[in-house]
Parts: sequence; C-alpha cells; structure tokens
Amino acid sequence: MDFDFTPEQQSFRSEVRAWLAAHVPAELKGRGFAASRAERAQVDKLRRWQHALQQAGYVGIDWPREHGGRGASIMEQIILYEEMSRAEAPQPVNRGGLSMLGPTLMKHGTPAQRARHLPRILSAEELWCQGFSEPNAGSDLANLQTRAVLDGDHYVIDGQKVWTSMAHVADWGFFLVRTDPAAPKHKGITFILLDMKTPGITIRPLVQITGEAEFNEVFLDRVRVPAANVVGKVNEGWGVALTTLAYERDVLTMIRHISLRTALERLVALARRTKKNGHTAADDLVIRQKIGSLVIAERCLQLNGYRSLTRILRGQPPGPEGSTAKLFWSQVDQDLAEVATEVIGPYSQIAAPSEWAPDEGQWEFYCLLARGSGIRAGTTEILRNILGERVLGLPKD
Ligand SMILES: Cc1cc2nc3c(=O)[nH]c(=O)nc-3n(C[C@H](O)[C@H](O)[C@H](O)COP(=O)(O)OP(=O)(O)OC[C@H]3O[C@@H](n4cnc5c(N)ncnc54)[C@H](O)[C@@H]3O)c2cc1C
Repeated sequence: MDFDFTPEQQSFRSEVRAWLAAHVPAELKGRGFAASRAERAQVDKLRRWQHALQQAGYVGIDWPREHGGRGASIMEQIILYEEMSRAEAPQPVNRGGLSMLGPTLMKHGTPAQRARHLPRILSAEELWCQGFSEPNAGSDLANLQTRAVLDGDHYVIDGQKVWTSMAHVADWGFFLVRTDPAAPKHKGITFILLDMKTPGITIRPLVQITGEAEFNEVFLDRVRVPAANVVGKVNEGWGVALTTLAYERDVLTMIRHISLRTALERLVALARRTKKNGHTAADDLVIRQKIGSLVIAERCLQLNGYRSLTRILRGQPPGPEGSTAKLFWSQVDQDLAEVATEVIGPYSQIAAPSEWAPDEGQWEFYCLLARGSGIRAGTTEILRNILGERVLGLPKD
C-alpha cells in the first residue's frame, strides 16, 4: 500500500477544499450524517446540491470522459469524499444511479441506454431506485417472482417489490424480473429499466423505525416496458445484477469509514459539551475508552478500504474486503450510536423538532437508522456465511 498522495492529488485536494468552503449551502451543512431522503422538498434541495457539484466537475469524477466523467482515478473520488466529509457536505443524492447503475450501464448497457441515462444520472435530473428485493426474495434474491412476459416489443410486468428506497421520489428504477419461470432460478432473470411514471405502478411508502418513510412497497400491475430497456441479455440478468451488487458492496464500502468519521467527530464534540455531575462525558474514563475503540475501528476500516483500493488500482479483482468491511462497518455504526445514547442519556430518546432534542434530534434519528445497517446491502448473517464458506472454507453446516 502506498499512503502518499501525489503532488497532483494534493493540489486536487486543495482545489476541492476551497470550492466546498465557498459553495456548501448553509441549510445542508452538517445535515449529511443523519439525513432524511424521505421528504420531497429535502430531496429537491439535495438534487440541486448534486447539480451544483456536477457543474463544478465533482460528480462521477472517476467515470470515463466519454461518459461525462473526469476520467480521474478512484483516488480523486476518495479525496473528494474525504473533503466533503470534512466540510460536512451531503453526498450526491442519486447514489443508486451513480454508484450502482452507472457502472453497470458502462459494462452491460447499449450505446443508446448510456447516452439516454448517464448524463441525467450525473446531473440528478433523474433519480434512480433499485427494485431488487421482494417479500420472498431478500437474502435469497434469486427467488424473485415478479414476472415479465414479452408482448410485441414490450414486456408486461406483474408482481411486487419491497424495501425500494426512494421509489416515491425516483424517476426511474433498475429492476430484476423473471422472464423464464421454467429455467433454474438464477437463469431466468432479466435486468430492466423502468420509468417510474409508467401506468400500473403503485408506490406505497413504508414507515420505518425512524418514523419516516424512505423506502416503499412497489406494486406492478400489467406495467408495459419497452424491450429496449433490457440491460444485457434476456434471462442473463443475474450476471448483470452481480456487477451492480459488486459496486454496492465494494466501492461503496471503501468509503463507508468516511461517513463514520463524520459521526465520530460529532460524537467527540457531543461528549466534550455534555455535562454529568460537574464533569463532561469526555472526562468519563469508560466513555473515553469506548470512543477510543471506535476511533481504532474507524481507522481499521479505512486501512482495509485502502487494501481494496490498492487491488483495484493494480487492476486486480476485488477481494473479500467488501464483505468484511460491510460486516464490520455495520457493527461499528451501531456501537457508535449506542455510545452516543449513553453520552446523552434519557435525552437521546427525544426527536426533532423538540427544542430538548440534542443536535436537533440527529442522534435520535441516527440511533434508529443504524438498526438497518446490518440488514441493507447484505445482512450480517449472510455476510458471515459468505466469509465463512467462501473465504475461510468452513463447512456449510
Ligand atoms: C434501510 C434499507 C434500505 C433498503 N433499500 C433497498 C432498495 O433500495 N432496494 C432493494 O431491492 N432492497 C432494499 N433493501 C432490502 C434489503 O436488501 C433486504 O432487506 C435484505 O437483502 C434482507 O432481505 P429480507 O429483508 O427479505 O430478509 P430475509 O432474507 O427474509 O432475512 C430475514 C433474517 O433471516 C436471516 N437469513 C436469511 N437467510 C439466511 C441464511 N441462509 N443463513 C442465515 N441467516 C439467514 C437474515 O440474515 C435475516 O436476519 C433495503 C433494506 C433496508 C433495511
């Protein structure tokens, strides 16, 4: 691993730092660490922020120039995210589009699909959601039952998706559907792009433990989708989906420690100003030790991320770090939330907009949100199975 940044990367860091200092909107600054994407008004603000970032050349910077990116290395992408965290700026809102669908279209999409969708993903003109999970197909994703039947030059889709984040504000979705029910379960699946305004789509928000509804049930009733929207080959969508999931678990996990660091810095500030029996929480030895452990964990995640990064920069296939990082990150995220709860005490239960809610209720929101960390993008149990069976070679039973 090479820990040094080149002079060009250092100068890129200075350029980004100066730009962010001048441009992060005051109303969004500091709201990124426990941000809501449930309300349309808030999503629209985040859309405008991504558009401003894109105009300045800071969205998709590791995308090739031909696809609207800067053609920079993934190092610049990491530097950008580090600086955004430092400036307490929210991340681009079109995360599924940028991190998952964009790279998938570059690898498997047609020239027409790339030309139609990639520019609008970058500018946040069109937001994307991911329609993979179903009521009986979460961990066992290949069990999905949503059917698509060819009718002329359209597919007619019937079925139900669930836990679809941001479906209620998304313009488009990338979905997995079953096109050959007779084939073995991994073989008859197709990856298809859906305009979320197509007749027959009903979106019902699901209220989460946070009290907000960021994810949804999506019902599909005779939804007609052009066959030209299929990505890759019909019935070979499982391979396309694996590309998408590899980006979700690998590149995204490499930068997870960055959001954790933002939360940690806030936790340290919180401990320093929270008074208990004449002392601050930061003077409490047990709290200090717990925060120290979290700092070490965050640094381990960062270094493990660098290990992934080194492999990618050398053109090697991703290692198991994506799964270890996701597993470890979700644990640290929940531990951090619990230490914050301990520091705050009973006030940790108070939600915004109460004036008694510390940090405008962001900790209460964060603690509840963290419960989902061990579920989304691969549950803790499934990741342990993957690591145990495929990496460590443990017996399946
Ligand atoms: C905040 C959040 C956002 C999400 N956003 C999206 C989204 O945008 N799009 C989308 O498609 N999906 C999304 N999901 C869904 C997510 O991918 C699934 O929740 C996840 O894959 C688990 O599936 P499930 O909920 O059906 O649980 P199940 O698969 O039914 O699992 C239930 C429990 O059984 C355990 N289990 C299951 N199988 C095994 C096994 N073989 N061995 C050991 N234990 C097992 C699991 O670990 C879990 O504890 C989101 C989830 C969350 C929490």
